[in-house]
Amino acid sequence: MAPRGGHFARLLLVLSLVLLAAAHPPPPAAFAEESSPYSKALAAYQDRRLKDAFTYAKEAVRQEPEHVDAQVLLGELYYQRQDLGRAKESWQRALKLAPSRQDVRDRLEKLEREAKVESGFARNDTAPFVVRFAEGEVPASLTDLREFLLETYRLVGQQMGYFPNHPITVLIYPAEGFKQVQGLSHQTAGLYDGKIRLPLRDGEGADLELKRVFWHEYTHALVHDLAKGKCPVWLNEGIATLQEARVLPINLQPVREAYEGKKLIPWDQLWKEEYAQGELELHYAQAYSIAQYLAKRWGFRKLESLLNRLGEGYPLADAFRAEYRMAPAAIEKEWLTWLRRNL
Ligand SMILES: [Zn+2]
Repeated sequence: MAPRGGHFARLLLVLSLVLLAAAHPPPPAAFAEESSPYSKALAAYQDRRLKDAFTYAKEAVRQEPEHVDAQVLLGELYYQRQDLGRAKESWQRALKLAPSRQDVRDRLEKLEREAKVESGFARNDTAPFVVRFAEGEVPASLTDLREFLLETYRLVGQQMGYFPNHPITVLIYPAEGFKQVQGLSHQTAGLYDGKIRLPLRDGEGADLELKRVFWHEYTHALVHDLAKGKCPVWLNEGIATLQEARVLPINLQPVREAYEGKKLIPWDQLWKEEYAQGELELHYAQAYSIAQYLAKRWGFRKLESLLNRLGEGYPLADAFRAEYRMAPAAIEKEWLTWLRRNL
């Protein structure tokens, strides 16, 4: 939604809804639906208030066990906090009520695949983290692991200005298990898909590598909450890489070469076009450099409000104009000048 016209547009929308309601008064059932535990659960879920969502979804299912969508949502919330048994039960109930729901069938199949690998995992929760890992394979001691998680929570949270209070699941897989679950190549260092998934590596530098990847994926979890899943990939990766760089420096050589060869990627084309595997490093390095520039020029608080605006539904250009008082094209030009001096 546009920043200046936003209020006006919202007012118009409210007005038209009022007019519509006057013309067609809603039946009492529709009103009940409006404030039902399920609609509250859904609203809280979309707003990333996951604790509230969980409370309302449980209430919704208690009141209306045949409410398919409530069962699906409750299953999702159990799944995200790694209660795979209860997630499975909810989704099975939903599927029994609505056998044609292919999406639920797909979720169940994915859960079964993951449960095969994850059911033997040991647990070591450190609030807000729900931690599961292959026993005997984690290189650090459990005390170290706990400290490492809390340190990340504190340090990344301080810079991002956000400390989630809902469970965040962290799964640490043996390298083979990670491939099995995700069907990903071993080049994928980690993943955030609602849960943080990390493969273990061994050998020299494995601890540092785990830390680097965890900082990156944890930042994705924060960005996801702040922007409610509406942050463009390049900005999301840029911010995650910016945090990761506090663990291990980023190689900026690809940006230097692209700058000299006039092959830098326009911001709005990052992760858009098909790109060769070799170009991926340039995408990350460039996204990092942009995020670094934004954070240096305007600070992290502005970056945080930018993400909040995206979460409110502002298009990216409007969010940029509202926070930085400049159009994205002008900022991109400034970044180029900054880059010349900082490469
Ligand atoms: Zn990433």
